[in-house]
Order: sequence, then C-alpha cells, then structure tokens
Amino acid sequence: MTDLGELYQQVILDHNRSPRNFKRLDSATRRAEGNNPLCGDRIQLYVQLDGDHISDIGFQMPQGSGCAISKASASLMTEAVKGKTPADAEALFQAFRDMLAGGATAPGKLAAFSGVRAFPSRIKCASLAWHALHAALQNTGDPVTTESAKDF
Ligand code: ZN
Repeated sequence: MTDLGELYQQVILDHNRSPRNFKRLDSATRRAEGNNPLCGDRIQLYVQLDGDHISDIGFQMPQGSGCAISKASASLMTEAVKGKTPADAEALFQAFRDMLAGGATAPGKLAAFSGVRAFPSRIKCASLAWHALHAALQNTGDPVTTESAKDF
C-alpha cells in the first residue's frame, strides 16, 4: 500500500471511530433517510437550511446499522457541506460520484474514498450519505435506497 493509501485509511478509521456531526438535529428544516440494503447501512440525515446555506447538519445511524465506510463517509460529507449553499453541496456530490466512477479525485478529505472504487460492492456504502443529502436538499421526503439509485 502506498503512503497516500495509508493516509486515506487513517482518515476513514478516524471518522468511523469518532464521527463528526453525529447527532440528531431537532432544529432541522430538512430530513431524509437512506438505506443501503446491500450492506445493511441505514442513515437518518438532518439538515438545517438558513437562507441560502446549510448552517447545521447531523446524522444518526441506528446501532449496528452502519459499516465503517458508510459512517466515515457520512461524517466527512457533513464536514464538507456545512456552511455551503445547496448548489455547492450538490457540486461536491457530483465530484464525489465522479471519483467513485473512476474520474478525478474529489477535493479535500473526500479524496480518502478514492480507493473505494476498487471495491464495487462498497461504493454504495460510500455514496449513501450523499444520496440522503441530495434527497434532503430536494425535499422529496421519500426515503432513498441505493438500489433505486440509477448510478453511484
Ligand atoms: Zn456499508
């Protein structure tokens, strides 16, 4: 494994061990739930929109329902989009998806998931939180499952 690969693994382990924004947000203006039946990952996402930016965000995973990758990815996603506008957050989602599909590496710590594309069965673990974010921003209110997502 390369040094960069080890660094990425450290980031994922750290965010799995102590996930950021791992909280229920009672002030949330948007909510979404996501479900990845392939792995058993489940997420509840809370987004607080103030004006044109995401002022706070939190997520929960029922006990035992989130694998290391899905939890670390949700943690890094919340860090990446906090303070951003919905449009910027959607652009990050697109960059993240492009990376998982084999394209350019996503910015910042999101790059830690670049290695996941070598494990197709885990790609949906990494993208689950982002699909939930997309649903929350679209305010569909429908639960998302990664099986119905047409692509990553
Ligand atoms: Zn998973």
